[in-house]
Formats: sequence, structure tokens, C-alpha cells
Amino acid sequence: MLNRDEVCAAIAAVVADGRGDGADRAAVLAVMVEGLRDRALRLGYATGDSAADSVGKMIAAALRPVDRVFRVAYDLYMVVLPHMRNEQHALLAATRLTQAFDLPVQDRGQPWRGRPVMGIALHPDHGTDPEVLCRRAELALHEALRQGGQHAVYGRSDEQAVISYEELREAIENNRLNTFLQPIWNLQTGRIAGAESLARWTAEQHGEVWPGHFVPFAEQSGLITALTSWSINTTLRHAAALNHVPDLKFAINLSPRAFNQPGLVEKLTGALGIWGVAPERVIAEITETALVHDLDQTVSLLRRLRDRGIGVAIDDFGTGYASIAYLSKFPATELKIDLSLVRGIHDDARAARLVSAIIDMAHHLDLVAVAEGIEDGGTQSLLAEMGCDFGQGYHLGRPVPAADFIARCGGRSRG
Ligand code: C2E
Ligand code: CA
Ligand code: CA
Repeated sequence: MLNRDEVCAAIAAVVADGRGDGADRAAVLAVMVEGLRDRALRLGYATGDSAADSVGKMIAAALRPVDRVFRVAYDLYMVVLPHMRNEQHALLAATRLTQAFDLPVQDRGQPWRGRPVMGIALHPDHGTDPEVLCRRAELALHEALRQGGQHAVYGRSDEQAVISYEELREAIENNRLNTFLQPIWNLQTGRIAGAESLARWTAEQHGEVWPGHFVPFAEQSGLITALTSWSINTTLRHAAALNHVPDLKFAINLSPRAFNQPGLVEKLTGALGIWGVAPERVIAEITETALVHDLDQTVSLLRRLRDRGIGVAIDDFGTGYASIAYLSKFPATELKIDLSLVRGIHDDARAARLVSAIIDMAHHLDLVAVAEGIEDGGTQSLLAEMGCDFGQGYHLGRPVPAADFIARCGGRSRG
């Protein structure tokens, strides 16, 4: 077993080596592995020590070669992670550790289950002194234990919820997320055209968690495949309840990570078959950042979706890096203009001209133009005048529980 001075020395070395600015942080993790102490006390210290060695190796194997692992007590390890970009980066490492323990610990041919609980402190955010960082990581560990969670970041218990991998996985698997639908209107006819499906999650431990928080977490922790399957299935189930209103289309968000995984087209077409929804009634929304990742692969995937009759929308247009030259290559059907561009058009003539030019460009490329984030009547009429085809925003309707949307459109919800 190592003493704490060695840990502090390692932290000091990492800190001295780092650039020490906001973009190059170091993280200290206090990792307690539940089950280890019990093993030592029941089966003897020698067995306990050998199990602890195996656990130490498992922790190291789940991390990068530059990361360092120290055992400081029976069941407590301190881990030093250099070159962390931000807190999310450290949480990603914590999640990877948790996942590693999905498999049993192998100790002298005897498998047993350990469960890691972690506290995280960041340099320089939570202190610059190595000892202070160690103590704060341990304080965060106690907070995680108190909350019954998988990990906690120092000083964050009152702020944004620290989601645990287990919690989100459980919520997805047991269908505890909710589908909200936000109406999309035809700005030229004033009729409702369909809806965008948006996930909502009320977590038992944290209350309402926003998709802006849990979708990136799902992307980083490998839960995005499960989230995407959930999203496709529930959206199509609700779409099926409105099969007698065939004009209504349903837009599903596909995250860049999910988009690059094999089997996506099959998943989508399979679900269409199960729920009996016509492919023409579904629009896959993909952000432009996802599109520029691998042009050839993207074009062939979009083509396969299009060949089956599924619509493709380029989401958040105006925030990423898709050049106009790229845009002409994508076999998309819609361009969704990001709300950050739409918001200002009412009182900023230049912003208005830009949006108007984007609408014209979309039309020249045979794409339907959709505006997001319409928050007032003035913006709506201006967009209609510019020839924008469809629109969405708080002024036209907030996202509502799927059952409410279905009832409003004259369908009966299937629960
Ligand atoms: P997004 O695809 O750009 O979705 C539109 C977001 O704008 C939604 O936020 C919506 O509630 C919000 N919004 C709509 N109208 C207005 C308005 O008039 N003003 C303002 N300020 N905002 C408006 P939300 O529901 O918080 O979702 C955030 C993002 O999370 C979505 O951005 C989408 O990228 C992602 N997301 C949501 N649900 C899912 C899902 O089931 N799967 C995946 N992969 N991503 C999802
Ligand atoms: Ca979207
Ligand atoms: Ca969007």
C-alpha cells in the first residue's frame, strides 16, 4: 500500500508538467471499490490484498497509459489524470471506470463483483495544492456515497445534476424517459405539418434533467445507441396513433454518434414496419457537424435513408462548419435554420437578410426551409413573407407530452 505523500508528489509532478491554464486541467479521483473491504474481512487480508491488486490493474486498464493509480487504503484508490480538457472529460474517465466493473473482477480464477464509487476534484478549479485536491476528491466521494450515486464532482452537489451511467441506462431500458412533441407549422398555409420529437427525463435523484445535458452524456458514455433506439421506437409508436392523419410528419433527432454506427438504417426501417408508419412521414434530423465528419460515408447513408422514402433534415444550420459546397452534395430534403440566426431577425435588418438568403439558397438546392425558435408573431410573419416553408418555436407551440399532442390532433394515444 502506498502512502499519501507519493500521491501528492505525483499530483505535483503532473501540475508542474501541465500548461496550468484553463484548457489543461488535471483531475484527482478518489475511487472506493465496494465489496473489497468485505472480501478482506471475510476471507483474510491476504485474499483482500490480492483482490485489491486485481482491482488496481482493472482501474489502470480502463484508463490511459499516462494516468496513475495509487492504492491508499483497503478499498480506496487515488487516481491522477493529467491533461483533462474540462469537467466532462474527467466525467468520461469516471464513466469508463464504472463500465469496466460491469465485468466481474478476476482474482486467482475467482470472479467477484466490485462497484466503484468516485469523487472528482479538478486542478486548478478546486485547488492548486496537491493535498487539498486529494481531500476535496475524498469529500466528493463522500457526497457520492451519501447520494447513492456513482460519482460526484467536488462542490457540485447543489448545481447541475451529476448523472450516473447506471441511472441513465436504467431510465432508458425501463422506458422512464418521456417523449415530448413540438408542433411544426406550415407558415404558408397556417396548418400544422407535424412535430419534432424531444426527449425529457425526470430523474428520481435529480428531478428534471435537460436533453442539452443528458444527450451529450449519453454520447460520451456509450448510451447513445440505446437512447436512439428508444427515441425511434417511442416516436413511431406515437406517429402510429396518428396514422389516420397521414399529412403529419414526425422528426427524430439522430445524434452524430448514433449516425456513424452501423445498422441505423435497418433499425429505422425495422421500427417503421413494426409500427406500420409510412417512411414518408418520418424525417431524420442530423446536425451539420455530423455531416462533415466523413463525407462519402455520410452521403451513402443519407442516400439509403432517402431510397427508402425517409426525409432528411440538416439540423441547426448556421452553427457548424458545413460549407455551401458540401450542402449541395447531401441528399437532404430540409434545411433547419438554427434559432440563433432566427431570433434576431425582427429588429436586425442584416440578420433578416442573412436568413432570407439562406431560405433562397435552400430553395435553389431543392430543400424545404424550416425556421426554429420563432418566439413572436412578428418573426413568424417576416419568415412567411421571406417564403420560409415551415416553422417551429414557443410562439407556435411549446413541446408538450406526446399524448397531449396526439389528443389535439384527434388521435388516441397508445399509452
Ligand atoms: P434541437 O434538435 O435543436 O431541438 C430544438 C430545441 O429548441 C429543443 O430543446 C426545443 O425545446 C427548443 N426550442 C423550441 N422552440 C424554441 C423557441 O422558440 N425558443 C427557444 N429558446 N428554444 C426553443 P430541447 O428539447 O431542450 O432539446 C435540446 C437538444 O437536445 C435538441 O436540440 C436535440 O439536439 C437534443 N435532443 C432532444 N431530444 C433528443 C433525442 O431524443 N435524441 C437525440 N439524439 N437528441 C435529442
Ligand atoms: Ca432537432
Ligand atoms: Ca435544431
